[in-house]
Amino acid sequence: MEVIESPATMQKKSNFLREKGTTIGFVPTMGYLHEGHLSLMRAARRDCDVGVVSIFVNPTQFSPNEDLARYPRDTEGDLKKCEIEGIDLVFLPQAQEMYPDGFRTYVMVEGLSDKLCGCSRPTHFRGVATVVLKLFHQVKPHRAYFGEKDYQQLTIIRRMVRDLDLDIEIVGMPTVRESDGLAMSSRNAYLDSEERVSALSLSRALERARDRVLQGERSAGALREELRGIIEGEQNTQIDYIAICHPQTLEDLETIENRALVALAVKVGTTRLIDNCVVLTKSGRETHG
Ligand code: AMP
Repeated sequence: MEVIESPATMQKKSNFLREKGTTIGFVPTMGYLHEGHLSLMRAARRDCDVGVVSIFVNPTQFSPNEDLARYPRDTEGDLKKCEIEGIDLVFLPQAQEMYPDGFRTYVMVEGLSDKLCGCSRPTHFRGVATVVLKLFHQVKPHRAYFGEKDYQQLTIIRRMVRDLDLDIEIVGMPTVRESDGLAMSSRNAYLDSEERVSALSLSRALERARDRVLQGERSAGALREELRGIIEGEQNTQIDYIAICHPQTLEDLETIENRALVALAVKVGTTRLIDNCVVLTKSGRETHG
């Protein structure tokens, strides 16, 4: 397994691979890898000739009061995991090389970046779209793999790829969960044992949403209140949002017809967690499976 740190070297390597006709599958990450990341890597290895993983804790997607400095890091352990998964190349750029002095250019995906997580993190998706576009130009993948765990991020990347005519196939992968339902996340490492119990209220609320919609609940407001009760019933939880919205536009819905995205952001102690699922009505189930 090769490790490359310089963006210029990465680009040369990608050009070389492409000239040979090799297909490149790419998994961008911020490291501290878990089974969710590994599922993306396995898909990239299965579908493409070469699997590339990037590990970069991207400063532009954190605001000054967020957890950039304490974001968990374990490069050595991550490299071992990549090696075991048969990844061919790990790209480990440095912040100073990604954002040299005088950096001025950002990508904004309007109308999608300001909803849901964008309300409390107004510059977050600008940072995400910018770094992902830069990584795409450096790694030059044929396919790139993203988790549905970060549903809004996946929606924004798909929109950017379409709007900017990028010749890259975006593959969305299902959320990998712990056996008790908690969505895997590098940030779960922040939770103490009591918070870990409270954190289960997110997946429990989503489970309830799925059941209630199948049973015939159509009112987004009523459903939201029910989910609020489940989450606020746990200690140390502070809801950022409970959104019931259109799965593509992320516009809020009043009435659930066929399908809806239920997305949650909750602070458990000091740790902000997100989770989501797409809920289907009975008729939505028949059309969308
Ligand atoms: P991160 O390192 O948190 O930036 O995540 C890198 C990629 O892994 C993103 O595409 C995430 O959506 C994806 N990912 C993170 N957690 C999970 C999970 N539990 N299941 C599936 N994909 C995930």
